Amino acid sequence: MWIVIGWLLIQFCFEWYLSRINLAYALKKDHHIPTILQDIITPEKFEKSKAYLRENTDFSNIKSVFSFLLSLPILIWFLPVLEKWTQHWSSNYYWQGLVFFGVIYLVNLIMGLPFSWYENFRIEQKFGFNKMTITTFWSDLLKNIITTLILGALFLTGVLWALQSTVWWWQFTLLVIAFFFVSMWIGPTILMPLFNKFSPMEEGEMKTALQQFAQENKIPMKKIFVMDASKRSSHGNAFFTGIGPTQRLVLFDTLLSYPTEEVLSIIGHEWGHWKHRDVWRQLGVIVILVTALFYTANLLFNANWIQAIFHVSEGYTVLYYTMMLVSPILFFIQPIMNYFIRMQEFAADSFSARLIKSPVPGMQSLKRIISDNLSNLHPHPLYRVWYYTHPAPEERIQALKELG
Ligand SMILES: [Zn+2]
Repeated sequence: MWIVIGWLLIQFCFEWYLSRINLAYALKKDHHIPTILQDIITPEKFEKSKAYLRENTDFSNIKSVFSFLLSLPILIWFLPVLEKWTQHWSSNYYWQGLVFFGVIYLVNLIMGLPFSWYENFRIEQKFGFNKMTITTFWSDLLKNIITTLILGALFLTGVLWALQSTVWWWQFTLLVIAFFFVSMWIGPTILMPLFNKFSPMEEGEMKTALQQFAQENKIPMKKIFVMDASKRSSHGNAFFTGIGPTQRLVLFDTLLSYPTEEVLSIIGHEWGHWKHRDVWRQLGVIVILVTALFYTANLLFNANWIQAIFHVSEGYTVLYYTMMLVSPILFFIQPIMNYFIRMQEFAADSFSARLIKSPVPGMQSLKRIISDNLSNLHPHPLYRVWYYTHPAPEERIQALKELG
């Protein structure tokens, strides 16, 4: 038992350490606004971005202490009790398993609720990012619960079925691949429209410029959508999603106030991800990682010591413990995955600069995004390596500058 708790404690402490050194590094007295950003970040803005980082770091530290402390009674006491309860409740293996995971999901959700409330209506509100009303908060929650329960039940039925054989790791991998395709299919067409409106760009100067740009570069114009992100938050972003016929470029409406050429550079960047088939590369990495993970989990599952330590017997309970123990491995190999994703970002940036025939609009739009999102100007190198899926903004601007 102590080995299990010790293992979870290692991850907890390491995460804590990373976030604290990151904060301390950003707040260092001898850090000034990078020369490259001096034209857009004022000293007030710089101070504000540090205050934002401080609040977010402290908040996430409190949250992780809470969730670590909570995970101990869950592991030791709650899961075995829950297993007994589901065994009494139904004699059907599938019902038992689904209810078991459903209860865990709801417990986690309820425990996390005060935190997401605080994050939106206190921190984001204070820094002027939150645009969400209380009604949106609750209706989002409700839609999230319903879609998770439906999709989760489908996925778990597959898991429970596979779990009946002794060797199930490859079946789990196939399930993840199937789930990836389903979510790439229904994500942009059914799920995301539940939460946001996606519309074509409105007529005007920007649309005309965009049409011309799309035509020159053979970007399918009807696959470019504007999302009403401003109803929740003023953070700006753009992304590329879907596969085959559901592929699309999505632009947050919060970016529409940017100068036209900067919007084009953002679209060029996302088009770069599309052209480079980055979705497929990411699927490749995911498949390798989860296969390794499930293989290890399968070994641990069959070793029978979880059953002995925690006094549980059902496959689904043992699986939950197993995944809880194996998933920290993902945390420790996260830097490798993020390294590849960051390389894709550099590639998409330079792709866009080539399309626009100048790196300047890309640099300007990055600067504006950094300023509008109050991004941390000095992330700690180790933190960056660990968590950043995008290169630090300064690095991206520097890389673009070298192209010009
Ligand atoms: Zn990107």
